[in-house]
Amino acid sequence: MSSGRKKIELKSLTLAQLEKHFVAAGEKKFRASQVLNWVYNNLVTSFEEMSNIPKPLRIMLSRDYTLKTLSLKSVQTSSTTETKKYLYSTKDNHVIETVLIPDEKRNTLCISTQVGCPLDCKFCATGLMGFKRNLTVGEIVDQYFLSAKEVGKDKITNIVYMGMGEPLTNFDNTISSLEIFTDQHNNRVSRNRITISTSGIADKIIELADSPLRVKLALSLHSPFDEIRTRLMPINKRYPLAETMEAIKYYSRITATRITFEYTMLKGINDRDEDIRALTKLCRSLPSKLNVIPFNSIAHMSLKGISKELEPTSLYDINLFVQKLRDNNITVMVRDTQGDDIAAACGQLATHNLSKTD
Ligand code: SAH
Ligand code: SF4
Repeated sequence: MSSGRKKIELKSLTLAQLEKHFVAAGEKKFRASQVLNWVYNNLVTSFEEMSNIPKPLRIMLSRDYTLKTLSLKSVQTSSTTETKKYLYSTKDNHVIETVLIPDEKRNTLCISTQVGCPLDCKFCATGLMGFKRNLTVGEIVDQYFLSAKEVGKDKITNIVYMGMGEPLTNFDNTISSLEIFTDQHNNRVSRNRITISTSGIADKIIELADSPLRVKLALSLHSPFDEIRTRLMPINKRYPLAETMEAIKYYSRITATRITFEYTMLKGINDRDEDIRALTKLCRSLPSKLNVIPFNSIAHMSLKGISKELEPTSLYDINLFVQKLRDNNITVMVRDTQGDDIAAACGQLATHNLSKTD
């Protein structure tokens, strides 16, 4: 490889891919798992630290590969909860956000898959900042490994793809990151502790169901009615509810998992009695649970159109809504608004400082 050529991001490769690279370069196949063991289990940051790797291979690695993807810019801790927001910068100076949400039983890491998001949901700060680019596999997985370095190895028990971006529009990189997280060899996070949240890209949901990954799936529903959902989430025009529901029923059937519906409560828009009736029907049509999310303020963004008019349903009304659904035997959880004070709660993630200067 000539010195001018771009180095390969080591953390973008699955074990099978690195084995192929090594074999093609005349190296022993088993060296690939040794190298990845250093990277993922010992969290090394340089090739020199890989003490059981022969020197010539280490030289080849530092010539052709890079271990560096993101760098930690800052950590903010919520004053009301233990939630932490990590800001990471990419090599091309974008800033992405990763959120650690601790509770009694688990530590959940919420990771990003894109800088911004192309889908423009009207209630979401990430959508409002627009789309910059997809994250590479290395940048997706390193949010986990760099954060694990901060909080302590093995402390992170769960991963949710609920940060910035729509994971299923960065499909290949999302899949490779899942392969790395669930790889037996890395022994990291089991598939039933990983959740992908999607706004509903029906054909990709089917592709994910047909992959061997079988992680949990959450669908951002927000309204059981096409007309309202399209106003809130323009992607609903391309994949209307009937098509998305078919896809998630298929996902649930093939993976034998329960689907989570995410539902952000918006006053007068999706908290009416007719919503309860339609939601009840929809939730009963497959193994599912409903995750009700209080609407987090996006007032830190510049708002126009419907985004300006959105208001949160009061906690009192959320409780009534939830009770009526429970009376209909629907499983409902209310999500805490963790990290609201550091803009780390659902849908508040936006690196507006950078988007202004881009
Ligand atoms: N793009 C994916 C995952 C990231 S968003 C998706 O849309 O599913 C994670 C969750 O936060 C989604 O359910 C999203 O609808 C919700 N969300 C977005 N903005 C929000 C806000 N302002 N308040 C509460 N939840 C919000
Ligand atoms: Fe993108 Fe999800 Fe935000 Fe919609 S809610 S704009 S899909 S990040």
